[in-house]
Amino acid sequence: MEHQLKNIEKCPVCGGESQKEFIEAEDHNVSNDLFKIVECVACSFRFTNPIPTEDTIGDYYKSENYVSHSGTKKGFVNRVYHIVRSRAIKQKENLAAKYSKEKVILDIGCGTGDFLGYCKSQNWKTLGLEPDQSARKMAIEKNAIEAKDLGHLYEVESNTFDVISMWHVLEHVYNLNKDIEQYKKILKKEGVLIVAVPNCSSKDAEHYKSSWAAYDLPIHLYHFRPDNMKQLFSKHGMEVVEILPMKFDSYYISMISEKYKGGNIFSGFINGLRSNVAANSKNNRYSSQIYVIRHKKGV
Ligand SMILES: [Zn+2]
Repeated sequence: MEHQLKNIEKCPVCGGESQKEFIEAEDHNVSNDLFKIVECVACSFRFTNPIPTEDTIGDYYKSENYVSHSGTKKGFVNRVYHIVRSRAIKQKENLAAKYSKEKVILDIGCGTGDFLGYCKSQNWKTLGLEPDQSARKMAIEKNAIEAKDLGHLYEVESNTFDVISMWHVLEHVYNLNKDIEQYKKILKKEGVLIVAVPNCSSKDAEHYKSSWAAYDLPIHLYHFRPDNMKQLFSKHGMEVVEILPMKFDSYYISMISEKYKGGNIFSGFINGLRSNVAANSKNNRYSSQIYVIRHKKGV
């Protein structure tokens, strides 16, 4: 593919201008081209660099394998993914309900709207934002939810939502710091951001190295670890109050990683299991984790 790339001079977390190369990995979904992940020398945050320009990055999403948007159920791994996902939707709604008083939720990157559709059935007032037009259409038609394009983020009134959820979306957000300021603004004072992201300090990430499926280059722009998440949100006057594991992700990601390196599903299962065994609530090394984030008190 012809690239139009943009170099990132400053670390999105700390603003540091010194970086070293961390790893080079392939885009397995669309272009099969190599992209680089660098590590900030000052804060050790890892991010993709260079990245496709904002007006060309959409081309890298045009993959038939992009399950979360297409709703495809082809293949064993995707089938299992869909079964587990519908179970996970209920757990996600439970978590949101635990932190919500008035049940008003914004889901950013709502895809085909299955999560919000379930929330709506549990008496939430819902709004979804989704850049993909066909996914948005399905969200509206299949799940009868209100779904708008991403630009609508800046048209929402301040102090509107109890919960803003982002399920594996923050790692895709192009203008990260600018958008976080906006999330903060439209979130109620007592509200929470619920953010799920992959964790490149997990054992499965260490095992698969450049084949680790959750690097997902170049559409994953950031490769967060727990300390990076804390530092990033602290800079914006917010704090992480709870970190929860997504235990299925280690299996799912390990199985796809095996596929990339020509291995088999069984090895993927074993490595997924090993990753979960190595992780706990103290080291926060699960393959993917959910961060509950709120305004710092008195800010
Ligand atoms: Zn940094």
